[in-house]
Amino acid sequence: METKIEKITDITQDADKIQTAAEIIRAGGLVAFPTETVYGLGADALNAKASEKIYAAKGRPSDNPLIVHIAKFEDMAKIAKKLPPQAKLLNDAFWPGPLTMIVEKNDKVPYETTGGMDTVAIRMPNHPVALALIRESTGFIAAPSANTSGRPSPTLADHVAEDLDGKIPMILDGGPVGIGIESTIVDLTEDVPMILRPGYITPEMLSEVIGEVKMDPGIIASDSTKKPKAPGMKYKHYAPKADLVLVDGEEAKVIEKINTLTAEAVTKGKKVGIISTDETFSAYKEGHVISIGARSNEDVIAQHLYKILREFDDMDVDLIYSESFATPRIGQAIMNRLLKAAGHQVISV
Ligand code: AMP
Ligand code: MG
Repeated sequence: METKIEKITDITQDADKIQTAAEIIRAGGLVAFPTETVYGLGADALNAKASEKIYAAKGRPSDNPLIVHIAKFEDMAKIAKKLPPQAKLLNDAFWPGPLTMIVEKNDKVPYETTGGMDTVAIRMPNHPVALALIRESTGFIAAPSANTSGRPSPTLADHVAEDLDGKIPMILDGGPVGIGIESTIVDLTEDVPMILRPGYITPEMLSEVIGEVKMDPGIIASDSTKKPKAPGMKYKHYAPKADLVLVDGEEAKVIEKINTLTAEAVTKGKKVGIISTDETFSAYKEGHVISIGARSNEDVIAQHLYKILREFDDMDVDLIYSESFATPRIGQAIMNRLLKAAGHQVISV
């Protein structure tokens, strides 16, 4: 199938393109579209056959549930069995935005969309193109990240095309995304709300609105004995083709260690990539060095992470050494993605 890539610069000016995309969704087809977190691969969430197409196009395991995207808060109650009191509070504080809430589903939502679960993940994205597409189609769009399963999530329309060209009829190109890592997921079916995936909305921000929140023990880096509650978090996600190793510690020691390891690998004929920061870029002597941005700007680090992993894939490096980025606010979310991409290979210096 031919994949049409449509640039959207303005939802009013490009209303006809959004209408065409909405028509594809209504007819049970797939459209990739930008959100503020990463690009999504959308289908009508209430149509079982449409949801199944998402799994096929991505090569996604069928037990890994999809997030349902809505454009107005009232629609949440239409697919939930009941709304917990926190839902309205979180909507008022963070929607539209990078927060996904898990609630009990009702019969309108097919099990194909929820990977067989009795709960459903719901989010209202903060992106004009995403909101227009949801509004103009069916109001409920199931959308995981628009990548082939196991590859880094797409933060540009080009990344979507790399993975899904020929497999879906349309990609809406809204330019680079703003945040660059997936939404925070909070499970509201627990007595104490539980974070199943860290993201831009931090535990502190959630606590300020709904009181106590817990972190799923299954996603805490050092704890590999427990199974994460979000099925998708158990897969080796976000993986670059090369072996990725994180080096953690004091800056000067990290640089020294990466330089030593790189020199060793280069001697053995290996092609090495290094993820540095602007501050440390010129301290690396060998290897292909890409800066993720200024260490002081954690938003930029999140924005560039997946793009860099894809760049190293394109360069066919054998090995990637990365500095670690446990930055103050969203460092937990960034490190969660990096640690998974690295299969938890960390060298502490
Ligand atoms: P993605 O859309 O690719 O960012 O992946 C969606 C994530 O949400 C995966 O990690 C899923 O396992 C998780 N998820 C979606 N629905 C549920 C649910 N009902 N219960 C727990 N986790 C969910
Ligand atoms: Mg994904």
